[in-house]
Amino acid sequence: MELDLEPLNLPSDNERPSCVIAGPCSAETEEQVLTTAKQLAAKGCHMFRAGIWKPRTKPGGFEGNGEKALPWMKEVKEETGMLTATEVATPEHVELALKYGIDILWIGARTTANPFAMQALADSLKGVDVPVLIKNPVNPDLELWIGGMERINRAGVKRLGAIHRGFSSVDKKIYRNLPMWQIPIELHRRIPNLPIICDPSHIGGRRDLIAPLCQQAMDLGFDGLIVESHCDPDEAWSDAKQQVTPDVLDYILSLLVIRDEHT
Ligand code: PEP
Ligand code: MN
Repeated sequence: MELDLEPLNLPSDNERPSCVIAGPCSAETEEQVLTTAKQLAAKGCHMFRAGIWKPRTKPGGFEGNGEKALPWMKEVKEETGMLTATEVATPEHVELALKYGIDILWIGARTTANPFAMQALADSLKGVDVPVLIKNPVNPDLELWIGGMERINRAGVKRLGAIHRGFSSVDKKIYRNLPMWQIPIELHRRIPNLPIICDPSHIGGRRDLIAPLCQQAMDLGFDGLIVESHCDPDEAWSDAKQQVTPDVLDYILSLLVIRDEHT
């Protein structure tokens, strides 16, 4: 399997994992977005994530602010210099995210599981040069994950990365989504030049699992991390249990042991 790839070329910090994207699960209010972003920037973070459109499992919860929140991401960029990242699930999301200058797009686990949705996204990305990070599908199906990446790649997107966010299971004893590390390891064996980023927040579902999962990802040679961080995690409108403050995230990252040689 070959993908036609170019390096992601995302900002990095030499002493830390090569790429760290941090920010809240959801962009809730202008104040929450700006406060969190400024705290993260003060800790040396270069890339800010926040969900604008939220794929909730059940109806009735907070489903994101939509377009209203996009100017807040623009402000983050102007005030902190951080690059911004958000999830896109439809061609309309892609169009709006690009219109407001979002720098990095990611495709969520529920979307990757749907080839029709992936093809629609691929068609909307034709001729667009933006880094796209593709989460694994919710189910442990490596072929579906690779197939989704192929669709986006065939549309001409060469700056592609994969995000490992764990796999849905009835077994919720420890993890919210089982890591099944053998799947991203096999992905790396199949497509060695594809950067793979670990999302410990959605794997663990719990704050206390963020540090060990980050370390495991580094030990396995992952290329970066995407971690949910909120200025007031207990009050978060989505995924409250797994978010950490920028202070705590900085502490977790400072304790990571990173080997020089990644395989
Ligand atoms: C998220 O990143 O907030 C999210 C909804 O993730 P996933 O698609 O991995 O569930
Ligand atoms: Mn989340």
